[in-house]
Amino acid sequence: MKRRKTPEVLIGSVKIGNENPVAIQSMTNTLTADIDATVKQILELNFAGSEIVRLTVNDAGAAQAIPHIVEKVRKLSPVPIVGDFHFNGNVLLRKYPECAQSLDKYRINPGNADDKNFREMVEMAIKNKKPVRIGVNAGSVDAKVLQHLMDDLKGFPSDEILEKAVVQSALQSAKLAEDLGLGRDKIVLSAKMSDVNSVIHVYRELAKHSPYALHLGLTEAGSGAQGIVKTSIALGILLQEGIGDTIRVSLTPSIKSPRTHEVKVCQEILQALNLRQFSPRIISCPGCGRTSNETFLPLVDKLNTKIVQLQGKYPILSSLKIAIMGCIVNGPGESLHADIGISLPGKCEKPMAQIYLKGVHFKDIKGDDMDEQFAVVLEDFLKQASK
Ligand code: SF4
Repeated sequence: MKRRKTPEVLIGSVKIGNENPVAIQSMTNTLTADIDATVKQILELNFAGSEIVRLTVNDAGAAQAIPHIVEKVRKLSPVPIVGDFHFNGNVLLRKYPECAQSLDKYRINPGNADDKNFREMVEMAIKNKKPVRIGVNAGSVDAKVLQHLMDDLKGFPSDEILEKAVVQSALQSAKLAEDLGLGRDKIVLSAKMSDVNSVIHVYRELAKHSPYALHLGLTEAGSGAQGIVKTSIALGILLQEGIGDTIRVSLTPSIKSPRTHEVKVCQEILQALNLRQFSPRIISCPGCGRTSNETFLPLVDKLNTKIVQLQGKYPILSSLKIAIMGCIVNGPGESLHADIGISLPGKCEKPMAQIYLKGVHFKDIKGDDMDEQFAVVLEDFLKQASK
């Protein structure tokens, strides 16, 4: 798919925009002033695949902690660290210059920054040669812009007015930043909303009416399957249209799920669209009345575990397509189209599984240890492919 043309923006060690890979972002939820906890979470997110990590800089304690956090993270990772500023950003950036210098990007929410605050933050970004994300959010859209549109568009549905306000606030703020001297290669825009249709609409508008690199996200997506599905639909449609240079999945974390879960979802979205590949593509059928579940289900489980173990040893594994299929109906076909595939015997079939390598029938296996036999074939294949 053709990506939208934008200026390239350098955020610390990561270049985004234009033809650069769509980058994955995440945000910490630790108290920023708690240096050790924040460093630990930044590294967890980064090692899970987050290529840019944002953290809130909301008070003096957070601003004072930033240089120490950056210093500690840099010993282990070059991941860009972004400061999220709102009501008092100008004061914090001015009062704590080491914070302003050590961050790789500032995120400014124009709805939560009055004119003076916004201007001063942009001026600090120019002085420190930092890029800025102008991040509008429907939950905190600029009240003046919204009121103006409500007066002008009496009778229009409120969601349409909100969409227009979000787009207008983002575009006006970007123009003001440019007028103040911030280059286009230092500006990223985002306009997050919690409704799927609205978010698609506003990003299409931003893409149509502005040249800037765009950070995509559905805000307040919720948690669990609902949050993942809503975000995947919104981001998937936009990315498929070539819109979006970085993404974040803003899931409300459940007590049981790690913060890194949102990073994994970002990877799956990009991988599903063939934009990037992080792990092997597993083609496995859901099973049905034909499936020998007592063979199929344990084998899928064991192979998934085996694949995770082998991934560190054989990096090539991440680029492969592996089919694990339940019966003769679609098994041989999917296996033939994969790099390596196994078609298991369904009920009423001969108790024999067929293994395919690169579109060629390789061998048949049978017995109670088909998972282990297939794992041996897989590892041999990986050894050969890694040479
Ligand atoms: S491949 Fe076979 S076992 Fe799997 S879902 Fe299709 S028919 Fe059922």
